Amino acid sequence: MNALDLDASHDPNRTSWIEVAAESDFPIQNLPYGIFSTQRRERRIGVAIGERIVDLRALAEAGLFDGIVDRATLSAETLNAMMAAGRPVWRALRARLSDLLRVGGDRALLEMPQALTTAEEATMHLPAIVGDYVDFYSSIEHATNLGRIFRPQGEPLLPNWRWIPIGYHGRSATIVPSGTPIRRPLGQRKLPGAEAPIFGASTRLDIELEVGFFAGPGNALGEPLPIERAREHIFGSVLVNDWSARDIQAWEYQPLGPFLGKSFATTISPWVVTTEALEPFRVAGPTQIPAPLPYLQRHEPDNYEIALSVLLSSAAMRARAIDAAAISSTSFAGMYWSQAQQLAHAASNGAAIRPGDLFASGTISGARPGSQGSLIELTENGAHPLRLPDGDERAFLEDGDEVSILGRCLRDGFRSIGFGVARGRVLSAAR
Ligand code: CA
Repeated sequence: MNALDLDASHDPNRTSWIEVAAESDFPIQNLPYGIFSTQRRERRIGVAIGERIVDLRALAEAGLFDGIVDRATLSAETLNAMMAAGRPVWRALRARLSDLLRVGGDRALLEMPQALTTAEEATMHLPAIVGDYVDFYSSIEHATNLGRIFRPQGEPLLPNWRWIPIGYHGRSATIVPSGTPIRRPLGQRKLPGAEAPIFGASTRLDIELEVGFFAGPGNALGEPLPIERAREHIFGSVLVNDWSARDIQAWEYQPLGPFLGKSFATTISPWVVTTEALEPFRVAGPTQIPAPLPYLQRHEPDNYEIALSVLLSSAAMRARAIDAAAISSTSFAGMYWSQAQQLAHAASNGAAIRPGDLFASGTISGARPGSQGSLIELTENGAHPLRLPDGDERAFLEDGDEVSILGRCLRDGFRSIGFGVARGRVLSAAR
């Protein structure tokens, strides 16, 4: 197996002249990209470090990245052009940023305080224009759990599952950045024993804990993207909450898969943690039996060690100043199908991938109790509601509930980095 591809930007001893708390998700080893605005700055690309944001447009206009990437790419209102630029540019830009921010590095940014703002002042936006959005189903534990719930009479895992990274095309227009309120969806559902469905507000609103990646340079239409090169086409990752209405989903999903039960909202964390920043946390995924077909065979470790957790707070808890409750914790490292396999599969028929396309992993569930990434699994389809710290119970989400997904990479010998948060609060249904 190949060694990790590390450089000075991953050095755990490197520190920034910008103060960064030990527990911060954004030390100098991370340098995630996002799109922000403030009262005085229209939308632009930023890099998070500690509680500060570096204004890349200001730096580009000062010529600090000349020779690495053109100024227009860094002055854009989305990351799509940077995603298209490709890995050599991403790596050179990261090296340059790290040098501008490190103690003992280039002092040019030190003399440009106007190129820094605070996270508190900033409003975060979607990182990219997402042309296409795909959601996979790549956790074997999750697929098995849901198979048991939705098809109790049959084999939980369908015969194709171990051969194909199963996925569906979702709705890019309803991808929203963290903090955007989530309106409870209306839809058709059929109550047990009823002859006909009814239309109304979902009563089984759920979350799905996922990690997604943004595509970098695409492929030409008709030409597959080989798995050996897949990582060069993955710009970076974000946390994803694929909000799901289980009652709408259960009634509509056969024979063509999820539709309105999932298309009403998908929340993502606003900072894109780059594939370069994740490199120290790259690990081998589980052994796949049977061995996948050759076009899906891994040639290097291609999973990532990311500790994930889900927090829930109700309106009643917030009113009494009770901290959000941790309802799930799991790891991304055990995913059966990797990001590289997902991307190679998505392009294997010659379908064109474009920079900024978003690919979500599917719900991430582990084997032990409390490591499932959805309420339908955690509560066994509502049969065993969760108990909240104030004594209230939850089978599915109530109006006013707020869900936060957190992610953090930890590995001995490396500086820990994190993803920030993907958060959303449930609003009552439209009338
Ligand atoms: Ca999903």
